[in-house]
Amino acid sequence: MNPPVSSSTPVFRSMLSMRGQGVVKGVAIGRVAVMGAAALEVVHYRIQADDVQAECDRLIKALAAARDELQNMASNLPEDAPREMGALLTVHSMLLDDPMLVQQTCALIVDRHYNAEWALTTQGQVLSEQFAVMEDDYIRERGADIRQVIERVLRVLSGSSALLVNLDAIQTDDALIVVARDISPADMLRLRGGRFGAFLTDLGGPTSHTAIVARSMNVPAVVGLGNIRSLVRDGDILIVDGSSGAVMVNPPEFILNEYRRRQAAYADDRAELSLLRDAPAITLDGISIKLEANIELPEEAEAALAAGADGIGLFRSEFLFMGRNDLPSEEEQYQAYSSVVKAMGGRPVTIRTLDVGADKALDGDITVATNPALGLRAIRYCLANPEIFGAQLRALLRASVHGELRILIPMISHMHEVRATRLSIAAAAAELDARGVEYAKNIALGAMVEIPAIAIAIEPFVDSLDFLSIGTNDLIQYTLAIDRGDSEVADLYDPMHPAVLRLIARTINAGERAGKPVAVCGEMAGDARVTRMLLGLGLKEFSMHPQQLLDVKKEVRLAHSNALRVKVAAALNRAESIDLATLIT
Ligand code: PEP
Ligand code: MG
Repeated sequence: MNPPVSSSTPVFRSMLSMRGQGVVKGVAIGRVAVMGAAALEVVHYRIQADDVQAECDRLIKALAAARDELQNMASNLPEDAPREMGALLTVHSMLLDDPMLVQQTCALIVDRHYNAEWALTTQGQVLSEQFAVMEDDYIRERGADIRQVIERVLRVLSGSSALLVNLDAIQTDDALIVVARDISPADMLRLRGGRFGAFLTDLGGPTSHTAIVARSMNVPAVVGLGNIRSLVRDGDILIVDGSSGAVMVNPPEFILNEYRRRQAAYADDRAELSLLRDAPAITLDGISIKLEANIELPEEAEAALAAGADGIGLFRSEFLFMGRNDLPSEEEQYQAYSSVVKAMGGRPVTIRTLDVGADKALDGDITVATNPALGLRAIRYCLANPEIFGAQLRALLRASVHGELRILIPMISHMHEVRATRLSIAAAAAELDARGVEYAKNIALGAMVEIPAIAIAIEPFVDSLDFLSIGTNDLIQYTLAIDRGDSEVADLYDPMHPAVLRLIARTINAGERAGKPVAVCGEMAGDARVTRMLLGLGLKEFSMHPQQLLDVKKEVRLAHSNALRVKVAAALNRAESIDLATLIT
């Protein structure tokens, strides 16, 4: 048994520190449990021509066994399993039927006489490379699903489907920190219930499964660490800071003590924050602020409610359309939208119409635009594809009878797009009338302010729409000419640039004058460090990831809105980015 992580702990090796992407906040201190990767240990050999059929059969049998295993897990989920888990396992079991995996792998056995393991890892490599060049982060990270199902089949082929963490080798009372190349949803499920302090992976980004599941388990996680799996050994002592993405291996005692203190402070902070769930979001000078949630899938409405959200400020409907070969039908969309509206029990639910193109391509969309971010995307795409748009609008109208549904149009740049959208909504309504189907007659229509042109010439948009929502992610990208997904220019992506802030201010002021609500639903809204600045710009509606809501509420309740407005107004005329520190006092 390893000695506890305490003052008597010997330092086995000198400290090593690394930084990845912190995807779930929190501090963990514990011992490493390295998770093996079957793909790294496979044997490659050529088979005899006579054995080709038997080898293909061996592969097909392993695929079927892995699929059964996953389906079995999906239908026998423990009650406390994260909500996403069933869907993730089902997606993995479906991948095992994908012709690109099954047929192409068999073809490698038949044509090149590879053994099944070799054929599978080769085909996995081909598919991973195809995913790796996808522009959209979310789709790119789905390459991890392929890798994970292949790992599972390799384990079946090797005769061992056991979890590749050697828990017996790490007998300790300390928390275990799982270190892996990548962790599949199925493995995450098997790891649940263990006393795991954190998850660390070589691969993955903020939308990887490790991130999604760790977030729902509320366990700190750092992904994209590069090669941590090969640098640590079972039993090593680790400190993990899920906020900064810092990981320290075998730290000296004084650093351990500092992080013990931070861990305790973080736990106190969370406990204190949870008390705010039902507290009103009101500034010190009595201004009431609306805090809503951004969601990508209908099931996330629950997390929004759990965080005490006032409504859904942004439902990114494109996630219903992505990662599949067909389009969701009107009925499927109706079920999805109405489930959110019903779950929110009368609170407003703002559903954004399909925002595809550029970084969020639909499967099978082979359009090659010279500059997709400036191309046929979002509302432009919808107006050019009336059948797709019509089905979505009909589904939205039908769902409106279940509560307060609002429609939000992305990437508006011209007034004629607003008029065309209204005509499309009228056409959808007429079709429902002809079918005798009910819908609400007063659905609010709003637009995203994410193209600088509309923030500059905002007045007609404010007048003709019911509300506005500022998409700062794209607004910053288009104002500063910085590709939001390009790490080479990430340092120039500056939400505090005075030009960005003035565009936000113009939009909020125009909304105030016209008596129309204006929200921010880009990442800035959920960043508690800039809450005061946004309040200083006059913002009264914020929409963010549910996990960020209480941090922002805390800031709101400590802020004096009118004093901030005076300070920010003065700072807006300066040429430099606002120094947030000046807004704290
Ligand atoms: C935005 O652009 O700020 C936004 C909220 O939309 P998305 O991130 O989905 O483009
Ligand atoms: Mg956007």
